[in-house]
Amino acid sequence: MQLRYSFRVYPSAGQRTAPAQAFGCARVVYNDALRAREIARSEGLPLPKTGDLSRTLITEAKQTPGRAWLGAVSAVVPQQSLRDLDTAYRNFFDGLKGKRPRMGAPRYKLRKDTRQAVRFTANARWSITTGGKLRLPKIGDLKVTWSRPLPSTPSTVTVVKDSAGRYFASFVVETGPEEILPQTTPGVGIDLGLGHFAVLSDGRKVDSPRFLRRAEKRLKKAQRALSRKEKGSSNRNKARLKVARAHAKVTDARREFHHRLSTKLIRENQAVAVEDLAVKGLARTRLAKSVHDAGWSAFVSMLEYKAARYGRAFHRIGRFEPTSQVCSQCGVKDGPKPLNVRVWTCGACGAVLDRDINAAVNVAKAAGLAVSACGAQVRPGLLPAPRSEAGTHPTPQPSTAR
Ligand SMILES: [Zn+2]
Repeated sequence: MQLRYSFRVYPSAGQRTAPAQAFGCARVVYNDALRAREIARSEGLPLPKTGDLSRTLITEAKQTPGRAWLGAVSAVVPQQSLRDLDTAYRNFFDGLKGKRPRMGAPRYKLRKDTRQAVRFTANARWSITTGGKLRLPKIGDLKVTWSRPLPSTPSTVTVVKDSAGRYFASFVVETGPEEILPQTTPGVGIDLGLGHFAVLSDGRKVDSPRFLRRAEKRLKKAQRALSRKEKGSSNRNKARLKVARAHAKVTDARREFHHRLSTKLIRENQAVAVEDLAVKGLARTRLAKSVHDAGWSAFVSMLEYKAARYGRAFHRIGRFEPTSQVCSQCGVKDGPKPLNVRVWTCGACGAVLDRDINAAVNVAKAAGLAVSACGAQVRPGLLPAPRSEAGTHPTPQPSTAR
């Protein structure tokens, strides 16, 4: 399996000019190639081939005064730009043909774009020095924080500068089959809810950690401060950088939390089951922001690739399963319940059920996993409740899409 490993890179003050040149070169060649194709398209001519573009926009352009500086960066950088544009076009056309989700036509890269990147392939002769530095052609040896070991030798590295001004080295590596974990028995169903980040079918409820909540609070504060600054003022620019930094912190903290939780769940269980989020379906509801903030889809995709990597089963349950309407104890479906009803009594068997845990148990059951069903029950239903009590609330609220 191919995975991406990213590490923070710290270029010294003197080492920042060369990456800036490489970013600029990648951007200019990309834009030149895009322009050449757009002109050909508007004139009804066949699209120029990548080989021709490479000759005219790189080899020949280097000889002109206006583009002589292309020679100052590694030859691989502009070549990769042409290849990136090829990929962007292929994805765009595949989207039109319905082979993949539709996406916009390739657009020009702007100098003010917040994220800048250059890629070095194997033939760029980049390397990791014995001292643990990242050696890049025509850039030099960069200091890297290796937060975890690479499972194998990477073939390519992408150097990225993000909106907060931080540099990263992102490697694509092949992970080996030796990572399959020994078999274990439990399976777990996961309900991704609004009250808690995740609720497990064994009754555990997982909240997002304090360091993430603190980072989110700081981001909100920075965003409020930015909105008060006058447009075009130098204070606004400072505030904007502050927001970008706070945002980067939240993104990092969230990814870290997702990694820890997904690894733990995959290690502990032989099988995991989640409800299909169909985030797109939620996009128009008031839950959309929560879905986006919690980053559930990123978390679910981590579960999915880690399951594949460590030899575990991953199940995605379709949205048609009414996980919050069915009693996980007796299987009776007694209708939708308003979101504010957290605990309800099954009208058929009298079990007192926690809404979230009940849903998680149903997710596990729908995937065919053996779970201890007692998890869902708050207390055993000794006395069957009258039917009228089941899932009702003094002031019922309209139920939202789930
Ligand atoms: Zn029941």
